[in-house]
Amino acid sequence: NLEVGIVGLPNVGKSTLFNAITKAGAEAANYPFCTIEPNVGVVDVPDDRIYKLADMFKSKKVIPAAMRFVDIAGLVAGASKGEGLGNKFLSHIRQVDAIAQVVRCFDDPNITHVSGSIDPIRDIEIINTELCLADLDSVEKRKQRIEKIAKSGDKEARIELPILEKVIEGLGDAIPVRAQGLDDEELEILKELTLLTAKKSLYVANISEDEISDYSGNEHVKRVQEYAANEGSGVVVVSARIESEIAELSDEEATAFLEELGVTESGLDKLIKASYALLGLINFFTAGEMEARAWTIVDGTKAPQAAGKIHSDIEKGFIRAEIVAYDDLVTCGSQNAAKEKGLVRLEGKEYVMKDGDVTYFRFNV
Ligand code: GDP
Repeated sequence: NLEVGIVGLPNVGKSTLFNAITKAGAEAANYPFCTIEPNVGVVDVPDDRIYKLADMFKSKKVIPAAMRFVDIAGLVAGASKGEGLGNKFLSHIRQVDAIAQVVRCFDDPNITHVSGSIDPIRDIEIINTELCLADLDSVEKRKQRIEKIAKSGDKEARIELPILEKVIEGLGDAIPVRAQGLDDEELEILKELTLLTAKKSLYVANISEDEISDYSGNEHVKRVQEYAANEGSGVVVVSARIESEIAELSDEEATAFLEELGVTESGLDKLIKASYALLGLINFFTAGEMEARAWTIVDGTKAPQAAGKIHSDIEKGFIRAEIVAYDDLVTCGSQNAAKEKGLVRLEGKEYVMKDGDVTYFRFNV
């Protein structure tokens, strides 16, 4: 499952947002094979298409795609030197696919800021510096090893060494790896190090509940947006307070509440969508009488590997995929009607899956 880590300085609204995520949580029965730890929240990825498919196939169960959020508390200045939660924190964050950094953009005199004033860019830089220092440590260790190997004449080590040196220089200036302008080949070489600042990132600007319908006057948000644009990261604007209120409501009540606020979707839905976009993810579907289910894959995944998301045996024994585009299926009204029109295609091993493909895999056992 896809995992997004939530970081941020203390008192910026992380727990408030995270509690909203756990309350809005996906039905645990749908995910019997993942144990859920207290700092993990699993939410459904909003995608109405799956409910239409369930209607059409008279499926007994609907299983939306899921996204895991991990609350990675304890990042403070000095974390990379072992202050706060230090290393425990860092090992958590190494495993996530993307990092969402919550930044405080709400003024509220009643809530202390750890650094005394509201300044989201300073906050971002505190966190990013810590992450850069942690990465610097990893890259320097690697460099010591590679240097020795390079001396013995190893060709790959000789290619890697200057890349490590370049990255060390950037990290020394507190420039995250993702913002160092490295090419794909260089990033591939660094991949093994699971560097924190090489991960895809987005900023969650937490604004006051009063501003949610119109935050155009919030200068903090503007600065975060500019900062993020410069390093190629995304920004999602939410009010954690409002999210925690929405989490208490039924679906109908939540829709009415959002309408009242004059917004079209919850902050959580925005966050999920932004994470999908950031990671280049799409959904494909399987549907039958048993269940209608959405599966998450990286855009560009081929049919056998998509099948492997369901079960490794299906990938191994992959023969063909029977595929109909969701829109075609809905236009035709049923799988049979789509078949008659020739819209159900048989695709082979090289087929690149598309968003909305309704799929039936044929495989050898
Ligand atoms: P954390 O330390 O980052 O986990 O921060 P918390 O979630 O505990 O929030 C710190 C304080 O800020 C709490 O008193 C929250 O109620 C408050 N807070 C969080 N989000 C909002 C918000 O959107 N608006 C306002 N006014 N207060 C908020």
